[in-house]
Amino acid sequence: MPLIDMPSEQAQSLFWEGMQEVAEAATRHRDEELFDALRKIGKAAVSQGIEPVPQGGRFLRCPVCGSAPGQLCLSTPGHPLKDHFHPERVDLVGKILTGEVAMEAVIQ
Ligand SMILES: [Zn+2]
Repeated sequence: MPLIDMPSEQAQSLFWEGMQEVAEAATRHRDEELFDALRKIGKAAVSQGIEPVPQGGRFLRCPVCGSAPGQLCLSTPGHPLKDHFHPERVDLVGKILTGEVAMEAVIQ
């Protein structure tokens, strides 16, 4: 039984918004421990059914267009955007959260 009454879509969006804010701070301070904490939180959340939704991609630099963390993707020939993000960027977030790709491998 949830302790807070909130539609799951809203909860998901709030979750990723929080993740993004922490990721922006982690990027600003170049704090590897914060990124590690984000990975743990994200992995636990995804295991409980929260999807790596497009705005979740914001906390990484885009591997396609190079958009910085916190920025939307830029239109790039041959790489269509989906909801303002490259699907490759969103996929990458999913792989990091499941541990398939190391967070350390994608942050500069
Ligand atoms: Zn992009």
